[in-house]
Amino acid sequence: MENIVIPPELEPVIAFHGHFCPGVLIGWRAARLALKLLEVPRDRDEELVAIAENDACGVDAVQYVLGCTFGKGNLLFRDWGKQAFTVFRRSDGKGVRMVLNAPDRELTREESAHRMLEERDEALFTIMEPREPIPEMAKIRSSGFCSLCGERVMETRLEQLEDGRMVCIPCGEKERA
Ligand SMILES: [Zn+2]
Ligand SMILES: [Zn+2]
Repeated sequence: MENIVIPPELEPVIAFHGHFCPGVLIGWRAARLALKLLEVPRDRDEELVAIAENDACGVDAVQYVLGCTFGKGNLLFRDWGKQAFTVFRRSDGKGVRMVLNAPDRELTREESAHRMLEERDEALFTIMEPREPIPEMAKIRSSGFCSLCGERVMETRLEQLEDGRMVCIPCGEKERA
């Protein structure tokens, strides 16, 4: 994509994601908007929790900019295929849901990138109240062992076979196949 000037603050986001695309820009804009609307800095230790309603490119920018990550457990994925993100601050439970507005006509990738870089927040997103309550804090769960493969498994992911043995999900699937 030519004629696109990448602002310096966006460079590390693109480096993290690996390539430049309109999709990563959606997450970048949504994450920055969330920080602005909630008047918070990047998450360090679960001060924020985010819900992504898709698992596309933009989620990488959400993780990088918001610090809400899959590993910390404060990024939740809803497999709904929508360009929508909800972010809450834990201090008082305030949250915001941002839904990307469709452009008024079909755009090329380059036009789409320009739109994501230049359009005002309010034109880019519909901003509304969260649609669901603030998620619980991530828990540290105890673990047990799968009696078939012997590997250690989070307790809530162990399942019981008819004969009573506790097994991991892939072993359970194999047993039933
Ligand atoms: Zn991408
Ligand atoms: Zn197993």
